[in-house]
Amino acid sequence: MGYERINFEADSARAVDDEKLKRALVNVTNRFRSARNKASSEVPGWDELRALGREIKKETIENLDRYLLMLEENVKKAGGHVHWAGDGEEACAIIIEIARKNNVKSVVKSKSMATEEVELNTALEAAGIRAVETDLGEYIIQLAGEHPSHIIAPAVHKTKDDISRLFSEKLGIPYLSEPEELTKVARERMRSEFLNAGMGISGANFAVAETGTIVIVENEGNARLTTTVPRIHVALAGIEKIIPRYNDLSLFLTLLARSATGQKSSTYVSFITGPRRKTDKDGPEEFHLVLLDNGRSGILANEQTRESLYCIRCGACLNNCPVYRKVGGHSYGWVYSGPIGAIINPQLLGIDKAPELPFASSLCGACRDVCPVKIDFPRVLLELRHEVKESKAEKGKGLELFIERLSFRLWRTIVTHEKLYGAISSLMYHLQTPFRGKGGSLGSLPYPLSRWTQDRDFPAIAGTPFRERWKKLKREIGQGGRNRNL
Ligand code: SF4
Repeated sequence: MGYERINFEADSARAVDDEKLKRALVNVTNRFRSARNKASSEVPGWDELRALGREIKKETIENLDRYLLMLEENVKKAGGHVHWAGDGEEACAIIIEIARKNNVKSVVKSKSMATEEVELNTALEAAGIRAVETDLGEYIIQLAGEHPSHIIAPAVHKTKDDISRLFSEKLGIPYLSEPEELTKVARERMRSEFLNAGMGISGANFAVAETGTIVIVENEGNARLTTTVPRIHVALAGIEKIIPRYNDLSLFLTLLARSATGQKSSTYVSFITGPRRKTDKDGPEEFHLVLLDNGRSGILANEQTRESLYCIRCGACLNNCPVYRKVGGHSYGWVYSGPIGAIINPQLLGIDKAPELPFASSLCGACRDVCPVKIDFPRVLLELRHEVKESKAEKGKGLELFIERLSFRLWRTIVTHEKLYGAISSLMYHLQTPFRGKGGSLGSLPYPLSRWTQDRDFPAIAGTPFRERWKKLKREIGQGGRNRNL
């Protein structure tokens, strides 16, 4: 699909000036963070569980071919159909074909990042099939014609007032100020959609190879209705969603619910193994699982970044990221945002489409510290930064790159030669005088350093270098003195 180049720098610059967005982000991410911290602290051996989750994902991803075939075999044994989609277009074509064969005119959807990724709603609309999102956040986003800005809370950037105005404008109803009233309107509209839809489309949080079971977690009950009321259920899942055994589920469900929302368990957990059996009271007559690659094999082939596929989409890394918390999800330019977006968007879309994203991080490691499968973000980000430097995206920046490399070589020479370092520091101390601002920082520096001082402090070089002050302190301590003004 023809995705545009992501322009993180310009989009994030706009986002940081948006006071309303800032308030919404702080509000929601703080709530998720404290709930996650509390819930994880109540589980004995939480870190060991994270390590075990990582081990299982590592083993699964390294044997993905075997587990995928096992999954296919077991879904078919349970009476389901399995389809393989190499990319987003193929995934949409498969789903549209299933709909056409069954004369389906309208579908209901539960929340699925994979369907956002392949732009399924646009493809369905172009095929004349009406698609209605049934997760409340996704419903709001669909009405607004936007993309989700958070993996688990798609409408996190919208205030109550935004939603009231949106409902009034798009649904032709009076302005309603209470969330309960808005939810009631959405629920009433969705109920008839569920009853009239010919097909329900969902994602999958996990796909169990051993049993062919699809597992969906949610809090609203709409996914259960999506997968049981219409005659056909289609689940679209990235190939990395697989886990080997049914017994692994208790671990992953524990990690997911607590990391995502701080709940001990999500309100609804649906286990779907094939279509409805004769003895079942409800369920679809047909079940289809569409397994999506869309660039995942490329990630799998790269040993250095492969662990990006361990992600179970809990959103904890977003809530804890100092960059996401300032710029929000839309700055990342695609469906995945925050630290996980910074590492998978460039890999799924191609590094030339998102060369700024691996740099959208301070490498503080807060994401790694909360990730339930311990993805080593700083290491993966550094690897991707290296790939960006080697990529086509950097073509045409010959002079800039030359200057950057020369600067770093020069810097290495200076810092590895003490006398030279001392001489340069002393020279810089004198040269900085015209730029000295208040409070020990330099004011505005000339280009190319102006880009730094535009947004950040640049501490002035001290008159007496630290090494001199250190020597002096050691001498004083040796003489029994005390110097607290180091
Ligand atoms: S990378 Fe880790 S923390 Fe971030 S969404 Fe995925 S599982 Fe959650």
